Amino acid sequence: MLTISFYGVRGSTPCSSPEIHRYGGNTSCVVLEGEDGDPIIFDLGTGLRPFGNDVGSAKPFHGTALLTHLHWDHVQGLPFFAPIHTAGSTLDVYGPCSDEACLSDAFGTFVNPPFFPVHFSDLIGDITFHDAMDCEFEIGPAKVMCRPVPHVGLTNGYRVDWGGRSIAYMSDHQEPFGQPNHVADGVLELADGVDVLIHDAQFTTSEYEARPDWGHCSIRYALEVAHQAKAKQLVLFHHDPTHHDEMIDDLLDEAQTIAAGLDIREVLAASEGLKLTLD
Ligand SMILES: [Zn+2]
Ligand SMILES: [Zn+2]
Repeated sequence: MLTISFYGVRGSTPCSSPEIHRYGGNTSCVVLEGEDGDPIIFDLGTGLRPFGNDVGSAKPFHGTALLTHLHWDHVQGLPFFAPIHTAGSTLDVYGPCSDEACLSDAFGTFVNPPFFPVHFSDLIGDITFHDAMDCEFEIGPAKVMCRPVPHVGLTNGYRVDWGGRSIAYMSDHQEPFGQPNHVADGVLELADGVDVLIHDAQFTTSEYEARPDWGHCSIRYALEVAHQAKAKQLVLFHHDPTHHDEMIDDLLDEAQTIAAGLDIREVLAASEGLKLTLD
């Protein structure tokens, strides 16, 4: 059995208001837990903090994070993850590196004064960074595939196969302008026949048309990716900060109608606190 827990589902920036309380305002953080092996965390956005509260800091934590990219909404939660302040805790972080900076150099820049009071290496637990680009590796019983995903700057998507179940995670995905049916080969490889596809759903079609080079896609394109990859379930994720609860409800209704014509079995909108269990 695998459990997928959504702790942060918002894109771009954390936000808060009564109008978004049902879907939530923390940024990208999703946790996979199986019956054997340590947790695997997709992205280190501000949703990592409430996950840390659930874990607690009474005993050392061991886990792995698969980071899509270094934009603020995907990394800000790291120093606020309570278990990393417990002696003996370990966190392995995999993510993209550029020619200019490996992953540990990048974190050493922004988890460091003057951007943060201390350097990440001064946190009590041990964080180990692993550069990961277009590769496959194993984390305990889980097999991980990492492929580049079109966005702004180097960005990874991930597929995890664990206990006979499969999940693909691509939080930020640039829809190719003028090519609404083109999906990158690496993206299709990641999402091929997965049980659950967690995908960028930042924009409505008109928002995408107004911001075609902001690195994101329309919900219509997320459905196209799920359709072409034959994903069984699509989870709309990385909601725009301006999308309030009722708007997301309406967008989900519309997406479910379109999905019925595309052989996508189920479409959900991610919300904070949502748990999916795969038997
Ligand atoms: Zn993002
Ligand atoms: Zn981004």
